[in-house]
Amino acid sequence: MTTSAAEFIALDERWSTHNYHPLPVVIAEADGAWVTDVEGRRYLDFLSAYSALNFGHRHPALVAAAQEQLGRVTLTSRAFHHDQLGAFCRELAELTGTEMVLPMNSGAEAVESALKVARKWAYEVKGVPDGQAEIVVAGSNFHGRTTTIISFSTDESARAGFGPYTPGFTVVKYGDAAALRDAITERTAAVLLEPIQGEAGVLVPPEGYLAEARRLCDEAGTLLIADEIQSGLARTGTLLALEPSGVRADLYTLGKALGGGILPLSAVVGRRDVLGVLKPGEHGSTFGGNPLACAVGRAVIKLLSTGEFQARSVELGARMHARLGELVGHGLAEVRGRGLWAGIDITPGGLSGREACEALAAKGLLAKETHGATLRLAPPLVISEADLDRGLDILEEVLAD
Ligand SMILES: *Cc1c(COP(=O)(O)O)cnc(C)c1O
Repeated sequence: MTTSAAEFIALDERWSTHNYHPLPVVIAEADGAWVTDVEGRRYLDFLSAYSALNFGHRHPALVAAAQEQLGRVTLTSRAFHHDQLGAFCRELAELTGTEMVLPMNSGAEAVESALKVARKWAYEVKGVPDGQAEIVVAGSNFHGRTTTIISFSTDESARAGFGPYTPGFTVVKYGDAAALRDAITERTAAVLLEPIQGEAGVLVPPEGYLAEARRLCDEAGTLLIADEIQSGLARTGTLLALEPSGVRADLYTLGKALGGGILPLSAVVGRRDVLGVLKPGEHGSTFGGNPLACAVGRAVIKLLSTGEFQARSVELGARMHARLGELVGHGLAEVRGRGLWAGIDITPGGLSGREACEALAAKGLLAKETHGATLRLAPPLVISEADLDRGLDILEEVLAD
């Protein structure tokens, strides 16, 4: 007898911690933009694992790269060299126009690594007195779940109950350049920003904000760190979401899609004189930069180097935003985003975000609410026009009034 979805859900409920509240869909298989549940129902995936699946489920080139590497060597630790690390770092630096790469695993680790590097740089290069470095961050940020990172979260459910909190962070309103200016001092090591805030509901900052942040950092001799873990790697129509503002960061954190939806792979990329402050023994990770991850990462870089996925995001994104725009005033209060990425707010008094996602799933579309009545849409960049339209039809059926 086959196990029903309800039985799998009961098993999860009984044995796994309850730090998530998943929709009642039990996925057994996936391909491209589609997933199939244990009872054979098919769904279009409009979440893409929060953009970790930019290339869709099991992209053939990425699966092939993983399989090839599985037949050779998967893990060495960094106690030895291996034949994938240098090439991965070089190719990622060339792709992003940066000088050096620090490979890690999860996104939160990349952010933690960038914060450590920025502090060390502040003491060794900028001359901030030891133990006094400050890092300025934005309200409504999402940078991960470690104790230090949640210390500067403004989301109470992420933060409350996990103190004592790591000091050394100043939180200012996202999108407010004057507040940023007032928060930067001579002890500021770095300003850490998401070019577009994903978890907050795909918040695009006001025109000129990021360029002004860059100018303020230059003026104060402070690093600008762009967290592109969700916004980067073609999601918004450019390799990095910072590009349209003409701004370059000193450090970028990358993750999610960097592992091709196959394994966790993150990195800090940026200036050699900044990342170069790390000396042997000062930072590391057993799995960071492992051969299997590097091989998959290299295949991801190859996909991104053609510009094809960036172009798809622009084209399909225009198509999606045109349709979503028609729903504003007819079920949606607001639509934000860029490329094939949108945050949509359901009209107050309508369905809650959770109810909307349950109704969408019942009709074969997977999406996830973020805060309250906001849904984030991030279809895989490999989705066909027909499938995108099909998903948008379902969205319209559920949300239009
Ligand atoms: C998801 C995310 C992270 C954390 O990545 P994990 O792999 O979940 O640790 C950090 N920053 C941003 C902007 C993210 O979207």
